[in-house]
Amino acid sequence: MHHDTQERLRQLRGATPAKSHNARTVAALTGNPGCVRRALLDAAGIDKDTLAARLGFPARFGQSPFAITRGNAFEAQVKANGFAQLLTLLRETLGLELAEVGAQDLEEVGGNKNSELRYTRSRQALKAAVDGRDAPTFFDHPLLRLDVGGNDVYLEPDLVAFHHDGVLHVVEIKSFAIIDNQADGTKVAAAARQSAVYVLALRRLLGDDKVSHEVVLVCPKDFSNQPTAVKIDVRKQLINLEHQLTRLARIETLAGQLPDGLSLDPGTHSPAELLENLSTLEARYAPACLASCEMAFLCRHEATGCTDTLGATVREELGGVETVTEALGLAHGTRVPADDQQEAATMLRNTARIYGSAAAA
Ligand code: SF4
Repeated sequence: MHHDTQERLRQLRGATPAKSHNARTVAALTGNPGCVRRALLDAAGIDKDTLAARLGFPARFGQSPFAITRGNAFEAQVKANGFAQLLTLLRETLGLELAEVGAQDLEEVGGNKNSELRYTRSRQALKAAVDGRDAPTFFDHPLLRLDVGGNDVYLEPDLVAFHHDGVLHVVEIKSFAIIDNQADGTKVAAAARQSAVYVLALRRLLGDDKVSHEVVLVCPKDFSNQPTAVKIDVRKQLINLEHQLTRLARIETLAGQLPDGLSLDPGTHSPAELLENLSTLEARYAPACLASCEMAFLCRHEATGCTDTLGATVREELGGVETVTEALGLAHGTRVPADDQQEAATMLRNTARIYGSAAAA
């Protein structure tokens, strides 16, 4: 990234430490690629959770401390004894005949957790594995990198990559249960989107044919701590992710448009100043933000009365009609449509007429 861009983003963040992207934030970013606010907050490494809370609109999602502890314990369990439980599951799920496997811990390099160092080490190890047709190997916590709108993002993964016969498989360990072979659809969909981010980062590093589109999801079975595994095909998520990544505006362009000296440092500004500064970053609120972005309650509050709050379908249908009041005026014929509102106005008038006759009948 260009030095000026880095400097502008650092100014925006202020003195608070930068927060890293992860697969969840990349997946969410691409879910709303038109949002300049989120793109800049994430590129600057701003802690959106803290910012939203400071502005009086704390996020209401994320894992509870209890769920995080449970998740960590489950992950440690399936990796214990040289990945014994994982190996058994992979034999069954991928149909592999494996007597034993090696393991490489890539969480640090000689006690050093520096991202650049870890990424270099991970890249070397993964390339050597797929090039050399090594023995099957688990790579624990490899650090990956992905270009997100011109910003190199390190992915702090909570994953294992399993290499066998020149092909890597992403293995995601999650603590939500699979009960009677059924799991919470929303959680599985989120896991698939996150896994697709890892698959894409690995494919860009190693080549498409070196990384399987089937990821292995490992979860507790029924109401026990026993793990079970299922394969998920993430081809659809990959296509969507690549498409959305290409639509993301380049960070350099967005950072170049920031007013000089704009800062969102909660340590130096009052909530009123923060709110004013934040309002210069254009948001594009949609109901899906509620499940994926820490700023959602604030952006929803700002967007009250806008047609955007009614979802992407309504936004597309009502292109050029920004507020609910305008839409009602056009529907009832009390407002004259602007040139770019003619099509939406005709549709609104027709809809109002049909609803009106249905209600009268
Ligand atoms: S909640 Fe706000 S900042 Fe986050 S993606 Fe939606 S519009 Fe953008």
